Amino acid sequence: MTPAFDKLLDALKRLPGLGYRSAERIALKLLVEKPQWAKDLRQALVEAEGAVQACVDCGNLSEGDLCAICSDESRDRSTICLVEHVPDLFSIERAGVYRGLYHSLGGKLSPIHGVGPKDLNLSSLGKRLEREEVEELILALPNDVEGEATCHYLQEEVVGDRAIKISRIGFGIPSGAGVTYSDSTTLRSSLEGRRSYG
Ligand code: ZN
Repeated sequence: MTPAFDKLLDALKRLPGLGYRSAERIALKLLVEKPQWAKDLRQALVEAEGAVQACVDCGNLSEGDLCAICSDESRDRSTICLVEHVPDLFSIERAGVYRGLYHSLGGKLSPIHGVGPKDLNLSSLGKRLEREEVEELILALPNDVEGEATCHYLQEEVVGDRAIKISRIGFGIPSGAGVTYSDSTTLRSSLEGRRSYG
């Protein structure tokens, strides 16, 4: 089209979940149909860039040192749910079934991709385990080789011999889906994570 339009398109295409067609539609919408949206977007981006940071304790999004969850006195401070990324935390919050605290690692151990313990948000977790009266650590990390390796590392190197209960979330068949089309990893996790009935 034009060099500036192509540049905008390239920037949009880098965003997760946007293919070429969606990026093109958004670029046209912002430039031609809704120039006010482009102004709003620009302003929101600048404001968010200046205001949003990572919570010093858990890694969640925050506009101060501590995020809304860490500074909420009504949360159960004896339980920390460990997640790979902040979006995982959002999903669990949306489900409305958990009232404890969180800790986002910002990744998982992956020697193949050069991700080691130093690349994860682990130092503040160690400090929290020292400082807070944590009784349970719920590992809500992915059900894959890297997730398992990360869980193992946390158990051995971070929690160590502290008297903290470590649990792993159950992995099962998504609601609405059935056994027939579930892959073998899901089925194995579902069987291993079974609970008594009735
Ligand atoms: Zn926090």
